[in-house]
Amino acid sequence: MDRQIRGIPASPGIVVGHVHLLRWEVPDVRHRIISDEHINEEITRFHAALERAKERLRLLRARVEAAAGPEEAAIFDVQLSIMDDMELTRGVEELIHQNLGAEKAFDLVMLEWRTRFARHAAAMLRERVGDLTDVHIRVLSILLGLPDHDPVDLPAGARAILVTHDLTPSLTVQLDRAAIAAIATDAGTRTSHVAILARSLGLPAVVGLRTATSELTGGERVVLDGGTGMLAINPTDEEITAYHRRQREEELAEASLAELAMVEAITLDGVRITLRVNVDIPEEAEAATRSGAEGVGLMRTEFLVVGRAAMPDEEEQYRAYRRVVEAFAGKPVIIRTFDIGGDKLPVGGYPSEPNPFLGWRAIRMCLDRPDLFRVQLRALLRAAVHGDLRIMLPLVVTLDEVHAARRLLADAAEELQARGVAHRTDVPLGVMIETPAAAVASDTFTRDVDFFSIGTNDLVQYTLAVDRGNANLADRFTPLHPAVLKLISRTVEVAEAGGIDVAVCGEMASQPLMAFALLGLGVRQLSVAPRSVPLVKRIVRGVTFAHAKEAAAAALRARTAEQARQELASRLGAAIGDAPYLYDGLPAAR
Ligand code: PEP
Ligand code: MG
Repeated sequence: MDRQIRGIPASPGIVVGHVHLLRWEVPDVRHRIISDEHINEEITRFHAALERAKERLRLLRARVEAAAGPEEAAIFDVQLSIMDDMELTRGVEELIHQNLGAEKAFDLVMLEWRTRFARHAAAMLRERVGDLTDVHIRVLSILLGLPDHDPVDLPAGARAILVTHDLTPSLTVQLDRAAIAAIATDAGTRTSHVAILARSLGLPAVVGLRTATSELTGGERVVLDGGTGMLAINPTDEEITAYHRRQREEELAEASLAELAMVEAITLDGVRITLRVNVDIPEEAEAATRSGAEGVGLMRTEFLVVGRAAMPDEEEQYRAYRRVVEAFAGKPVIIRTFDIGGDKLPVGGYPSEPNPFLGWRAIRMCLDRPDLFRVQLRALLRAAVHGDLRIMLPLVVTLDEVHAARRLLADAAEELQARGVAHRTDVPLGVMIETPAAAVASDTFTRDVDFFSIGTNDLVQYTLAVDRGNANLADRFTPLHPAVLKLISRTVEVAEAGGIDVAVCGEMASQPLMAFALLGLGVRQLSVAPRSVPLVKRIVRGVTFAHAKEAAAAALRARTAEQARQELASRLGAAIGDAPYLYDGLPAAR
């Protein structure tokens, strides 16, 4: 093998394939002056490039429509309409008339448009910046004669390994599953949404590789190991054979874990744990029921929106929620209202705020856009007729938000009542505890909500001031930091005192060592990725609660995350034996 690049394991699985390098960035453009006699020629060249870009987009649109349906395909309509915009084409022609080369003229106009849209007061227009960027890249690539690297433009069955700097959720949902077998990115961490989505889609992925796009040129044969976070470039035939062997071993280990699906999650001293799954897209629901989970602890609804040009209407949302509720036949299904913003935005919505994670997202956006929020609430109340649906609010920091959401929920019920549509009015309402504010002040919520669910991905990010998606900070993202453990412990105590349920639905719950810590902190409900259900069951069934409690107490006394890790590892190792998988997904020791 030529060399290996180490990254962060994001979604398990071993894939051998060829690199499809996607540089989805605006290329650099040289300033080029043309003489008067070349002006008409240059304008013709510009229009020809536009026509080619449109032609390609139409093909792509047809392909996505056939594979994913009309809603997903509609995202390309926005880009097609941008290319038909007379103001835009006139702007470019004017600059060409001032003797600028077509690519520079187009580049300048697009830069001006993107800046104007990014600053626009209307959110819908700010969200168009991503579409403008896509058009900018597509047309410039043609004008500059660059190779076309469209993310979804690969022959079916190519089983390529997509290597790119970063993958926005909207690009991820466009990926052609028949052509792409795995994902590798320079940026990202285990808890960035591209990693979460890759796990949902069952696509092996390594993120945080930092230099993959600069070290690779495209077309190389590589092995990607999503379980260890490794990318091996140009492996020898013997190495490939060894990987295939490992692949089979992993499949066998998984099959033996799958046998645990039907047994109870109960500790050796008889404490029962409720294990639920996280579902990110409705299509996953049926497969998730086979994991052995007792319902859904978190359904992220925003993936109904990212990658789409328009918000899904009430009917479409109702069908999506009903599908999940019915798949779980009477078991609890906790559906979280839109957590849009941050790195999860509707089509092309590249973050246009200076601090998107501290910005206008999740419950804040929903409360400010009651027109959009009420549609979702109506769809949820209708779907609740078909099973045990519960509603959860993301990123709550104050009780006022809960009250405002309850008022909108009442409005939604009234609207359905007036329309004579079947719905429920007794749907439990819970909040995510995913900010230090919510954890410290968790006692202020207990009388007004039915349950808590601790979102450790954001809780760790906001408590430690460590961006969850920044690969350079990945080893500083330490869920076992004393501050995080104390906030979780406090939230559990408050919930117990208030007599309400508390669960953990962040990635921490899926990591064996941390699941052991959560158990010891008194968490009785965990919501994990479907693949992690048997693994967490094995941990629960291999320990006593008393032992976990003692380990968690030691972790709480520790003065650093590393000390806490050692306290937990030595006790879990003593109970179930040491195994490398206990540490999968933990940040490297510093
Ligand atoms: C979390 O923050 O832990 C969580 C579960 O929500 P998300 O990962 O979607 O932000
Ligand atoms: Mg969150």
